[in-house]
Amino acid sequence: MAELAVDGGHDTIVAAVDWGGTWIRVAAVSGGRILRKDRRAKPSSLAEQYATVADMVLRTTSHLAQPPTAVGVGLAGVVQEGVVGTAHNLGFTDGTDIAAALRPHLPLPVYLLNDVQAQALGVAARWPHGTTAVLTMGTGVGGAVIKDGSLDPGLGGAGDFGHVVIDVDGPRCGCGGTGCLEVLVSGRTLAEAATALAEAGSSPLLAERARSGRALHAGDLQDAAQEGDSRAAEILDRSAIALSAGLRTIVATHDPHRIVLAGARLTPDTWFGRAVRTRWDLIRPHWARTELHHVVEDEDAALLGAASYALSKFTAAQSGS
Ligand SMILES: [Zn+2]
Repeated sequence: MAELAVDGGHDTIVAAVDWGGTWIRVAAVSGGRILRKDRRAKPSSLAEQYATVADMVLRTTSHLAQPPTAVGVGLAGVVQEGVVGTAHNLGFTDGTDIAAALRPHLPLPVYLLNDVQAQALGVAARWPHGTTAVLTMGTGVGGAVIKDGSLDPGLGGAGDFGHVVIDVDGPRCGCGGTGCLEVLVSGRTLAEAATALAEAGSSPLLAERARSGRALHAGDLQDAAQEGDSRAAEILDRSAIALSAGLRTIVATHDPHRIVLAGARLTPDTWFGRAVRTRWDLIRPHWARTELHHVVEDEDAALLGAASYALSKFTAAQSGS
């Protein structure tokens, strides 16, 4: 695998695209730094999306010292061997070859990856050596495995830790399985738990916040636990046990040098972040030497990750490997 050459400090310019369900963001990247970036609302039709992405790339990289050598595209969907496996919220049908579809608009090599993988690559750039497993926790749960600075996606989805099975008798997951990590601990699940506690009247703090008319989220559950709400604390502790079991599976399958927990809810100064670390210390394999780190990712991580992926794939293609 090629090194994470985008950090090499040379002048190669790569265009990065973060193609999400609401926004399309594009950046010109060189030496691991964003030179220029742009953001537009995602058009509804596919034809408009292709034209918009191409126009944004050309405008963002115009008037730079040199044209971009490649384009890295992080996409909200499953990507297998450079082709979209599933991306229904963007309107793509399975098997869409986006690089081929963009070619009439954009005469550059295009390399495609999942947007969470792009984000994880960007997050992991500070650990260029060894195996890094990144676990992201936002509305859903995802992740990626990065070896010596390069994404190791298997056929496409390796590192999608949201679908590690924790409880075979648990609730149904969107992937078709049951009891996946994502249905047990995601931001969406914790928000639903907070709403249920408020509606049942078993949490005064959550009930009061619900009366304000605002939709409750996972942070409200944390605040309730922090204030001494035993029901909220119990739900979060169960979630921490589930997440720790997921970390154990990551160690069993990858034995990485480090696991990076990415997400604001996982920082050590939050109730949930502390509970995860306490549970992990209790159940980690006695032989495990994997370090636990955390980052709060910024919106540039996905762009930097897409750029590094494109540059490593382009460099590998040039060298014939
Ligand atoms: Zn699942």
